[in-house]
Amino acid sequence: MEKPKKFPEQKQDLPGNEFQMKPQPEIIRENYVGSGKLLGKVAFITGGDSGIGRSVAVHFAREGANIAIVYLKEDKDAIETRELIKKEGRECLLLSGDLKDEKFCKAAIKKCHTSFGKINIVVNNAAVQFSTTDFEKVTTAQLQKTFETNIYPYFYITKAALPLLKEGDTIINTSSVTAYRGSEHLIDYASTKGAIVSFTRSLSTMLAEKKIRVNGVAPGPIWTPLIVASFDKIADFGKDNPMKRAGQPSEVAPAYVFLACEDSSYITGQFIHINGGEIVA
Ligand code: NAD
Ligand code: MG
Repeated sequence: MEKPKKFPEQKQDLPGNEFQMKPQPEIIRENYVGSGKLLGKVAFITGGDSGIGRSVAVHFAREGANIAIVYLKEDKDAIETRELIKKEGRECLLLSGDLKDEKFCKAAIKKCHTSFGKINIVVNNAAVQFSTTDFEKVTTAQLQKTFETNIYPYFYITKAALPLLKEGDTIINTSSVTAYRGSEHLIDYASTKGAIVSFTRSLSTMLAEKKIRVNGVAPGPIWTPLIVASFDKIADFGKDNPMKRAGQPSEVAPAYVFLACEDSSYITGQFIHINGGEIVA
């Protein structure tokens, strides 16, 4: 029997870097016109340096918000994101650290609050995934890392942010199509994404009376550094959905704008499925 590889079975050390990707992901459509939907708001976005989080950050900025982004260690990507936000005429606070550490989560929320004087939108979005072909090779170390990164910080960040949120503020969580249809090679990751759905539904009910809405987005295959970092074969990535292509971050982030602003004022506890047409809801 083949000896299981040591932890984790992956192409390179995560996270991936967006600046090295070819082709470059589309962050925002050139013709996306902001209309002040988030004017004067402050958004706190985990994993905001690259991929979907970066795209959300730039869209929010174009809609008038100041931004704080949390990321692990991809300084180059984070600095580029800050430049993009500055170009939108907004401020961007960079918070580098490990979300697995509750103390860091508390400190990051506090820093955002002292820098901007408020927090209106919390986007929980950071995650890791380790593709594993054989269930028996999902090591305990990998299982722990996936859960400690992908779901524990949703509790840490939300607990720290909640006392600062007011009526009309919103929380947006990032699940995945894998939560709804499963994934044989990402079983631990898909499990955390299912937990995020239940977390969102539970929290939304709890906060409904406070008029704080909690929703989420469940992306399908989106062209980001996470994909390049975690899969060996990427040529066919996204080809097996009805649209037969992967999506761009620019096709996902507008849903976060919708869920963050007043346009979605009667929606809470729900997920928007952005996955090229796979029916999963
Ligand atoms: P990404 O690599 O650009 O973003 C993930 C970010 O998480 C990284 O930039 C990294 O800085 C951050 N992160 C990871 N571990 C961290 C830690 N311990 N502390 C602090 N930050 C940490 O990839 P992405 O695809 O944009 O991922 C964003 C979200 O979208 C994730 O929740 C992912 O599960 C979800 N998603 C992505 C796809 C896809 O196909 N790309 C599909 C479904 C869901
Ligand atoms: Mg990154």
